[in-house]
Amino acid sequence: MFNERVYNFSAGPSMLPLPVLEKAGREITNFGLSGMSVMEMSHRSGAYQEIFDETKDLFRQVLSVPDTHEILFMQGGATGQFAAVAMNLIGRTGLADYAVTGNFSGLAAKEAKKYGQVHIAADTAAQNHTRIPRQEELELSPDASYLHYCANNTIYGTEWDYVPRTDCPVVADMSSNILSRPVDIAAHGLIYAGVQKNMAPAGMAAVIIDRSLAGQELACTPTILNYRVMIDKDSMYNTPPTFNIYMLGLVLKWVKEQGGVRGMEELREIRSSLLYDFLDNSRLFRGCAERSARSKMNVTFRTSSPELDALFVREAAEKGLVSLAGHRVVGGMRASIYNAMPVEGVRKLVEFMGEFEKNHKNGLQR
Ligand SMILES: *Cc1c(COP(=O)(O)O)cnc(C)c1O
Repeated sequence: MFNERVYNFSAGPSMLPLPVLEKAGREITNFGLSGMSVMEMSHRSGAYQEIFDETKDLFRQVLSVPDTHEILFMQGGATGQFAAVAMNLIGRTGLADYAVTGNFSGLAAKEAKKYGQVHIAADTAAQNHTRIPRQEELELSPDASYLHYCANNTIYGTEWDYVPRTDCPVVADMSSNILSRPVDIAAHGLIYAGVQKNMAPAGMAAVIIDRSLAGQELACTPTILNYRVMIDKDSMYNTPPTFNIYMLGLVLKWVKEQGGVRGMEELREIRSSLLYDFLDNSRLFRGCAERSARSKMNVTFRTSSPELDALFVREAAEKGLVSLAGHRVVGGMRASIYNAMPVEGVRKLVEFMGEFEKNHKNGLQR
């Protein structure tokens, strides 16, 4: 039980910036003298349309989205997009390339198989997904409709440091690193992200799509997953997740005030270096991912034994450093250090890791 806010290292849903939560709290019963909560507003009202337009504009500004690309807000999270991407885009040739570098890209490939032929362009499973393939290693099909990759592997703690090149449109799942650094949007045909990692409360996905890719959907595509319809209806074919969009707007304003995605990038360098520098000098803890593939958003690490890992997670939680257990498929620890994690939170974590190491000299592995 905590009387004050903890440092929450959850992979998602995860921390939101405190000023954003406070502003939403102040506006919770009466937004902008409308006499009602954003949650109670008609999505067709003028007041709500302003919130929607402002959020979309901010998203375009903050990520420098070119005019060729449309921004959509869709329900069903990132997992909904695993299906939407395939249903809307695989029809052109009936085949798509997937780079599998972790759990979610594997699930995306599996989902796509229902709608067409999937060619695995790379698979790092044999290395326990501790690395990212280089461009030269990708086995690309000449006739793929698109190449799908997951820019940051939330569970394994690896991150692509380049955009893969191929002759067809590139599709990226950026759920866990969007808004954390500048992105070459034009190098992508489509980018999607579940918002609950780094942008807003859970319940929707943001999609950035090159408009020229819409309109090739399979006949069976549900209307709410149809990019052409969603573009035509400006994400309002049906009731959009109105409160999430409002919260995203608040987060985007906050990001802009902190120096935009460049400001976020500087902060993620600081946070991740604090942790990785500690790990590289520790005799008890070690990082799980290969150095060249290390994620600056999800840092995975372990001690010498699962028992000591569990003890660490328990004792850290008692200090207000919570949700540090690794994903159940990999074990160990994972510190998710998204935009809203204060640098101070990572300092406190590293300090505690140092103490824990001193207290467990018998568990030392090197
Ligand atoms: C969390 C996550 C997902 C799944 O997101 P949902 O919104 O729960 O469907 C997919 N891809 C990545 C990279 C994720 O981190």
